[in-house]
Amino acid sequence: MKSCYLVKIRLFNFIRSKYLRRMKRLFLLSLALVTVLAGFSQPSAKRFTLVITNVNIIDVPTGKVVQNRLLAISGDTIKAVDDTKMAAKYKADRYVDARGKYAMPGLWDMHVHFRGGDSLIGANKALLPLFLANGITTVRECGGDMTPSVMTWRKATALGELAGPRIFTSGPKLDGPGAVWAGSIPVTNPAEVSKALDSLQKIGVDFVKIYDSKISHDAYLEIIRQAKKRGMKVTGHMPFTVELKEAAALGMDGSEHLYYVFKACSSKEDSITDLIRQSENTAHPIGLFGALPALFNTFDSAKAKSLFKYLAEKNFTITPTLFISKTLGEIKQTDHTTDSMLAYIDPRIQETYQGRVRSARRQSDDGTQFKLKYDALCTSLVPQMYAAGVNIVAGSDCGASNSFVYPGTSLHGEIKLLVASGLTPAQGLKTAVVNGAKFMKVENFYGSLQAGKCSDLILLDSNPLENINAIDQINVVMANGKLYTKEDLNALLAGVRH
Ligand SMILES: [Zn+2]
Repeated sequence: MKSCYLVKIRLFNFIRSKYLRRMKRLFLLSLALVTVLAGFSQPSAKRFTLVITNVNIIDVPTGKVVQNRLLAISGDTIKAVDDTKMAAKYKADRYVDARGKYAMPGLWDMHVHFRGGDSLIGANKALLPLFLANGITTVRECGGDMTPSVMTWRKATALGELAGPRIFTSGPKLDGPGAVWAGSIPVTNPAEVSKALDSLQKIGVDFVKIYDSKISHDAYLEIIRQAKKRGMKVTGHMPFTVELKEAAALGMDGSEHLYYVFKACSSKEDSITDLIRQSENTAHPIGLFGALPALFNTFDSAKAKSLFKYLAEKNFTITPTLFISKTLGEIKQTDHTTDSMLAYIDPRIQETYQGRVRSARRQSDDGTQFKLKYDALCTSLVPQMYAAGVNIVAGSDCGASNSFVYPGTSLHGEIKLLVASGLTPAQGLKTAVVNGAKFMKVENFYGSLQAGKCSDLILLDSNPLENINAIDQINVVMANGKLYTKEDLNALLAGVRH
């Protein structure tokens, strides 16, 4: 553009000259002709792998729709976005007429698990197409026990050799000794933390995930200190012996679920945390669920407000995981035996669902009632956090042991619940396509359909800004440079059906 502009200035000077006017006029004409020809020939000189025409593009960051656009794509990169009227300029190996359809970036599920032991590696791999078929082109895997396989899938999906989403993974979780989740790395002191982080960096994880089943207050904060020194992102659960502000002040990047942010909204956070610490090595330690009623009764909206402001200043990320809370909260009274998604879940993964069904049956009616009240209060915090500028991301927590939270559809459920909590549809979509990339610090390549950005996208039958349920009607998915039509997606699903 700059050189073109300079040519025009030079031509203008030519015209002003009194001498050699005829010669210059001739020269001007030939130059103008060359410029015009160059203008037409530039895009057509290139051949794109795919051109999508007549498409309505949803610009998620602004919540606006731009109609009748054209997307020129080569592999995994959007090369140009133009008016469909200019279609003649764009030559491609393949054309898709997307008349009446809505294009937006592929969805990100920011909290999934691949787990269940070596015998379930194949069953976990068979979950990958479920994400794609539901428009999820990126997942953030938050800790499991099959890291070598996940690393292989991460590479293979990125290369387009395996049909599945892009994968960011934490590898194994860090926890204390005797952790509840298999595959976790135990840490108790600074030397062990250093060794654990060495091993995570050696296998090339994308972030650190801390779990809270056995970890001590000091080891937890030491992980954050050392990880931040190494430039690693840290998120996770949090032991109730730690206060959220302590972790955020050390540079922790995010918190999974709403328990920990909820705890920090109590006016008695200090004294309740003290009681939890004192009970830690006694016969009756106060666990997370034991402390919730006291936290609920001392919830302080003014404290919540100032906390959210602080978290926003820290660029803190929260993954509310509303869908799994709701699903598990209603597990006792819901009949899941006819769920259509069960046909795509390996029976051995389905067996792992029974653990949470059994614990729900043990819960008293009072406990169930309290959980409903607690969930409602937590959910009401989401739009407040969003408005304060906290980075809210959509995550389903799907995976073995997380009963009836199916890969793919559960993320749609999460987005709908985020909207039901008070976010606008545009904000709900932002949690699923913009904010995850922000957490992973790759926002320059994702989040919108613009030239130079990644071509992972979905085509929807109707406008999700008008009705968020439109995210269920997925017509086409493009992931890792490959286009999947409705027929292709159905074939992928048929391939993993039992
Ligand atoms: Zn999880």
